[in-house]
Amino acid sequence: MSITREASLLGATGQILGWDQETMMPEGGLELRSRQLAQLARMTHELATDPRVGEWLAACEADASLMSDPFSVAAVNVRETRRAYDRATKIPASLVEELAKTTSISQHEWAEARKLSDFARFRPHLEKIVRLLRERAACFGWDKAKGEAWDALADEYEPGCTAAEVESVFKPLRTRLAGLVSDLLTKGKAPRAEFNDYAVPVEAQERFSRFVLEKIGFDFRRGRLDRSTHPFCGGSHCNDVRMTSRYSERCLNDGLGSSMHEAGHGMYEQGLRFEHVGTPMGESVSLGIHESQSRMWENQVGRSRAFWTWAMKELPRFVGDDAQRFSLDDFYGAANVVEPGFIRVDADEATYNLHIMIRFEIERAIIRGELDVAGIPSVWNRMYKEYLGLDVPDDRRGCLQDIHWSMGSMGYFPTYTLGNLYAAQFFEAARKEMPDLLDQFARGEFGGLKRWLNGKIHEEGKRYLPRDLCRRVTGQELSPEPLMRHLEGKLRPLYGL
Ligand code: ZN
Repeated sequence: MSITREASLLGATGQILGWDQETMMPEGGLELRSRQLAQLARMTHELATDPRVGEWLAACEADASLMSDPFSVAAVNVRETRRAYDRATKIPASLVEELAKTTSISQHEWAEARKLSDFARFRPHLEKIVRLLRERAACFGWDKAKGEAWDALADEYEPGCTAAEVESVFKPLRTRLAGLVSDLLTKGKAPRAEFNDYAVPVEAQERFSRFVLEKIGFDFRRGRLDRSTHPFCGGSHCNDVRMTSRYSERCLNDGLGSSMHEAGHGMYEQGLRFEHVGTPMGESVSLGIHESQSRMWENQVGRSRAFWTWAMKELPRFVGDDAQRFSLDDFYGAANVVEPGFIRVDADEATYNLHIMIRFEIERAIIRGELDVAGIPSVWNRMYKEYLGLDVPDDRRGCLQDIHWSMGSMGYFPTYTLGNLYAAQFFEAARKEMPDLLDQFARGEFGGLKRWLNGKIHEEGKRYLPRDLCRRVTGQELSPEPLMRHLEGKLRPLYGL
């Protein structure tokens, strides 16, 4: 329908302006840029909530022949347009406005509070956000028999996701992860990680990242890689994907990991079909599935011995012959050191999910009303001790480290771990179908995996809900087993266990 395509087109324009703000725009542009973005957001919202969209949806839904196959292009577009329309129209404009105002102030207050490591300063703002989010959840509604308010918030990021389901996967995962991490740290021998302190000029790192990204299949004729403080992937459509990375002079793996991660997002976007642009069939499934693509290229590929077998031969061309002093074990070990820390974004592959579980449990308890905002720091610190064995020194390195809650994003964190779980499960399925996949990586060939992902996941757009897609691609329900097999199978031998 043309109105929704127009809305999507405007949204895409906003994406390019947002990308420009993070990468290219001179500081002086800021004031007018926020007005430009606000104007676009307003216009997009007006189009997306136009009553004619509701009339068109009702007419489509009444047309039995159109809807007979629920996975046809037309039926999927109707289903997903309905979801977006309901979400956009069920909240009163006054609540939208109040949330926008509150989160804009609280992001600023959060940044100040974090700087001062002073949770009390942020507390009243977060309390107001929680109140508004509860109202928002009530507008959307949830399954009153089996569900809870958190589900209504999560549904925005991960359609169909419920707290009960997340809990059922996270609980066994937590026990297994805690056991693995404790074995590695108490009984294992950490691999050599000198390569993580190998200083390389940022320009050389960026050239190497570009080379790797081109090799794994990111199409630079239909996308760009630039730098920004916080790496992200955006852009307007599948033929114009904008991603950014960030490099640290001190550690090549940081920048390479972040580039491969964003390229996983970028290749998902490039893999969507242009013929469906502006409609749900031309959009990604969910944040969790999106994250599965970035994690797979970052972790299953980028931290594998096979990848480094190839990459170590290429690296000296970019950073100098000095890099030849590192062995394959050095590269592979450095990419896979496990070390519990306070900061989620710096966490290794094994401990990362424990950070997410803590956030999930806290935000669920907050939305349920079982925990007051004032109680967050003490619960946070207690859980870090219990889950990661750490004494959190201050709120800056504790419950004030993430921006998400100040933006009003609750129900968002689990999509990171869901992404890790989906990545492992998809990758296992890919290896079953292509048993020589790792040998291909060792030869610098990544097209097999990319084409498999294109066909199974990217080209399908929003045809399936996340859990249905998982079942179709892997033949199984989402489970913690593939991720645990991936981590156990890699880390135990690496730690000599
Ligand atoms: Zn990501």
